[in-house]
Amino acid sequence: MKYDVIIVGAGPGGIFSAYELMKKAPDLRVAVFEAGYPLEKRRCPIDGKKVKSCVKCKVCAIMSGFGGAGAFSDGKYNITNDFGGTLYQHIGRHEAIELMEYVDEINVSHGGGGTRKFSTAGTKFKKICMQNKLKLLDASVRHLGTDINYIVLENLYNEMKDHIEFRFRTSVEHVEAIPDGYRVRYGDGEEDYADCAKCIISVGRSGSKWMETVCRELDIPTASNRVDLGVRVELPAVIFSDLTDELYESKIVYRTEKFEDNVRTFCMNPNGIVVNENTNGIVTVNGHSYEGSERQTENTNFALLVAKHFSEPFKDSNGYGESIARLSNMLGGGVIVQRFGDLVRGRRSNVKRIEEGMVQPTLAATPGDLSLVLPKRILDGIIEMIYALDKIAPGTANDDTLLYGVEVKFYNMEVEIDENLESRHKGLYIIGDGSGVTHSLSHASASGIHVARRIAQEGKSRRQ
Ligand SMILES: Cc1cc2nc3c(=O)[nH]c(=O)nc-3n(C[C@H](O)[C@H](O)[C@H](O)COP(=O)(O)OP(=O)(O)OC[C@H]3O[C@@H](n4cnc5c(N)ncnc54)[C@H](O)[C@@H]3O)c2cc1C
Repeated sequence: MKYDVIIVGAGPGGIFSAYELMKKAPDLRVAVFEAGYPLEKRRCPIDGKKVKSCVKCKVCAIMSGFGGAGAFSDGKYNITNDFGGTLYQHIGRHEAIELMEYVDEINVSHGGGGTRKFSTAGTKFKKICMQNKLKLLDASVRHLGTDINYIVLENLYNEMKDHIEFRFRTSVEHVEAIPDGYRVRYGDGEEDYADCAKCIISVGRSGSKWMETVCRELDIPTASNRVDLGVRVELPAVIFSDLTDELYESKIVYRTEKFEDNVRTFCMNPNGIVVNENTNGIVTVNGHSYEGSERQTENTNFALLVAKHFSEPFKDSNGYGESIARLSNMLGGGVIVQRFGDLVRGRRSNVKRIEEGMVQPTLAATPGDLSLVLPKRILDGIIEMIYALDKIAPGTANDDTLLYGVEVKFYNMEVEIDENLESRHKGLYIIGDGSGVTHSLSHASASGIHVARRIAQEGKSRRQ
């Protein structure tokens, strides 16, 4: 089988490259190979009743399948160069923003029309943050919500399915360079391969280990990346409502007095829920919220994270994060929850104290002691930041504020790619979170558009 383009992975990076190729180069024969299931067949067996914890499915329905890791996410498309990846370092600040805006237009025209876009432009909170040693990062954000995000993905798939060949449950094993392109092997049999002139790899976090193998086999240089460690904070939504009503999500950075480390807020979910996340069998914490009011809660949650980067002699930043997450899983059997008041008093939380508190937890986690899990330096920074946030959102440092741990953000190693997001092998593009360059829906999607336009342009130049 011979294609003009094979895309590996149907997360936002893969979807938006396929979409743009369909629009800008409709004559090309394009296939998407995806390890997971089509959107409607993606089901996590955890139902909270019969199945309470991860049963380690061969293909994780939360991370894999049409929509990738973003399918059941909060659908927050942040339009900014300040966070979410460093795509701008490759393609330029202006183009990065332009592409993120274009992705937003596509989302809006495919079912996201009724959703709100928030912006930090002109907000009073910038000054209030500065007055309290906090820095509010610039961004505008479209909040699709988990429910509308699903509808947008459904609509995108329906528009593409007759033009692009989607092959689900097709895990790519190897990518080999052949004289006129690439051979993509996806099974054990001799005949289990397809050839293409150009290959776009967009395998996200779940494909991180596989990506390392591909880079080794094709001799593509890589560099170690950082890992972010911290907790997810849950408190009554009213405490943060001034900020969340105006900005929805605010990315705030605090430089600690003790160690001069940066602690930052991440993934804010007004009226949302805290959830488990399973990465390679390790249970960590995350959060999301729905656009529809009937599924909203009375709590807001967000992460407080500190970045750690190791390079010499120890390079495995992700391994460090995994070990800390494993420790919390060992002590708590999964995610640990602790009241802020208990943490600062140096005692573990228990069921009774949590039940008596004024924050009703939205995740069933094990009451425990986060100081036995997180390194002192990271925990001290988080405590300092909670007191700093208390000045702009009084009540953040209440005793009953809940902290879930641990939250870990793993990043793929950074793959060497140029301004076209092309590797040292001509026609082999590496995009999205799998490249280590993006860490978000909007950056991953924009990287897909960038590469598709490049391929379409090359085809046009050749024909002229
Ligand atoms: C619970 C959760 C909530 C999130 N919320 C947000 C949010 O609100 N805003 C935000 O900006 N970001 C959010 N994120 C992060 C966001 O989902 C990712 O940044 C984004 O999905 C990255 O897109 P991607 O296309 O690069 O990779 P992915 O979405 O990870 O997609 C990669 C795809 O490749 C497939 N694949 C992997 N290996 C192979 C292989 N060998 N062969 C074939 N297919 C393969 C996988 O099955 C997967 O479907 C969230 C993530 C999670 C898990």
